[in-house]
Amino acid sequence: MLNFIYKNQTEILFGKGQMSEITSRLPENAKVLLLFGGGSIKKNGVYDQAMSALAGVDVIEFGGVEPNPTYETLMQAVASAKEHNVNFILAVGGGSVIDGAKFVAAAYNFAGEPWDILVKGAEFSNPLPIGAVLTLPATGSESNGNSVVTKKETSQKRAFSSPSVQPVFAVLDPEYTFSLPERQVSNGVVDAFVHVIEQYLTYPVNAPLQDRFAEGILQTLISEGPKALSEPQNYDVRANVMWSATMALNGLIGQGVPQDWSTHMIGHELTALYNLDHAQTLAIVLPALMHVQKEQKSIKIQQLGERVFGFNYSDEAEQIDKTIKAVQDFFEAMAVKTRLADYDLDEQAIDAVVNNLEKNELTTLGEHGDIDLAKVKQILALAL
Ligand code: NAP
Ligand code: FE
Repeated sequence: MLNFIYKNQTEILFGKGQMSEITSRLPENAKVLLLFGGGSIKKNGVYDQAMSALAGVDVIEFGGVEPNPTYETLMQAVASAKEHNVNFILAVGGGSVIDGAKFVAAAYNFAGEPWDILVKGAEFSNPLPIGAVLTLPATGSESNGNSVVTKKETSQKRAFSSPSVQPVFAVLDPEYTFSLPERQVSNGVVDAFVHVIEQYLTYPVNAPLQDRFAEGILQTLISEGPKALSEPQNYDVRANVMWSATMALNGLIGQGVPQDWSTHMIGHELTALYNLDHAQTLAIVLPALMHVQKEQKSIKIQQLGERVFGFNYSDEAEQIDKTIKAVQDFFEAMAVKTRLADYDLDEQAIDAVVNNLEKNELTTLGEHGDIDLAKVKQILALAL
């Protein structure tokens, strides 16, 4: 097991009706920027619940944060936050809104060009504190410090990470997910699944507890994910999916183990170029990446097959191939397509992704840094 320092500062307010808890957690003389997306919270009653919890609090609204939030829109939110001198951001929505809130929080007191926070790792100080009300379980953004932002002008999707922008609290009310369209339920389950895989499917470092945490989350997503589609009003199913997605990327399972993240890095380019949903890109990349990296990941792929899918093939190659197929079948069972052609993409997309990775200097991906541009080509060719 590798060394680690671990702290998760987010207070989780989990379950029905927990929105009522937020007011007591706001700063004194709170002036709140209520950040939200394209309007789903106004249709499903979450906005009304937030506003009634915030009765008597000074609130400024900024709506319109898009899926895969853009720098261009978020800079408007920064301007609005500055104009009104806010001292707290309440992000109400999915990963895009919460990621967006982190960028706004970081940019608020930043003297230079805030895009440098994403592309140059520029240091920032005194970010605004953030609270999150999660409406889409997927990203773990509600209790991590990661943020992914897209610059429309240059088709760049870039990430930054800092514990200082991690939400101080997160409301996880499973009822808020009842209104999700099927596509977003599917996306969320696949994204959370791949988050676990990025921290699990590397090489063994004698960390059996971390392995068991990861396998427990994967098994839960495999059993509850399809039920979230077939029994959309089942509170306990939604509750378990929601908690799984948070646990998948709140830092816990990644401590003391190697991490991969190449599926995400390649996937980000597909979204930046072709506007595919984040989870769709992961479902395309991961099975092909497992094939190309099957030697490096051999032991953990076999363990995944045995412990999560219950396979016990005596032939190593068969155990690996069946496991990769099972991962792909799970994505398809969640109604997320796994080939580039399913999204009308062909060889041209491969060159475009490779060019973008090169431009962004992302040429040594994976837990060994051995996924270079030639391998990315190989992976995407397999996913055609
Ligand atoms: P999202 O982009 O936040 O939301 C997708 C769609 O779902 C939006 O159209 C949204 O509509 C709708 N929606 C959300 N909650 C709803 C509800 N309860 N009922 C009905 N519709 C609802 O999706 P996401 O998957 O959570 O976030 C994806 C982003 O997170 C990507 O940019 C990805 O790169 C990033 N990401 C971040 C991390 C991290 O660690 N921070 C990890 C992985 C991915 P409205 O806009 O109308 O609300
Ligand atoms: Fe993700």
